[in-house]
Amino acid sequence: MAVLVAFVVAVFLVFFLFLLPIILSLRAVGSLFVYPGQLRTVFGNRILRRNHALEHATIATMLEKEPGRPLSGFSTDDGFFVQGARSLDEVDAAARAALARLKGGERSLAVHRNCGTTIVASNLLAAVFFLAAVALGLYLGGWWIYGLIVSGIVLAFALRVPLSLFLQRFVTTDANLNDAEVGWVEPARPEDLRSGLLGMLLAASTVRVRVFHTDPDAVEVLRGDETVVR
Ligand SMILES: [Zn+2]
Repeated sequence: MAVLVAFVVAVFLVFFLFLLPIILSLRAVGSLFVYPGQLRTVFGNRILRRNHALEHATIATMLEKEPGRPLSGFSTDDGFFVQGARSLDEVDAAARAALARLKGGERSLAVHRNCGTTIVASNLLAAVFFLAAVALGLYLGGWWIYGLIVSGIVLAFALRVPLSLFLQRFVTTDANLNDAEVGWVEPARPEDLRSGLLGMLLAASTVRVRVFHTDPDAVEVLRGDETVVR
């Protein structure tokens, strides 16, 4: 009986592992319908891109002092949130230091490999490589197609960070903070994060930074239609 169970589990595992690359690739292809539009929206919102740059720079400044700390953030049209903070003061100081450094030309602070853009990049790459693998595999015939699909996933994984850094540099962030000032820093409200208990727990360690922009050329932001980038 135990042998039979082990056999069934083994067959299931092999089948699942065999199908997994295809399931992941199909999911990535689905993201082709979402991510390009989202990137276009973010690209058109200079305020959001600048807030995103300052969010990265603030977290980078905090991580310089204490590497490996679990910090994350996301940006909106009003500023950005830092999750995992210990106090308002530390975020306030880091945001002001980060702003000064960006203004001083340290553009590399504006991009970060653990940005949400990396998820976008890996899905876009996986989708493109999957479609190319299917086309080439159909042409070559036989089992080539499966090998090509798996190779595409490996390649997408290898190239996701370089593409993410490129997309951040030119699409999802803008390191020009010359016309920006850090306004004030305040505790996040649970409703800004997640609903229910999770929101309450997250809010306890989340800080909101308001950023003001005085660039006359920056886009006007319509209330109630706020885009969020991570
Ligand atoms: Zn980011």
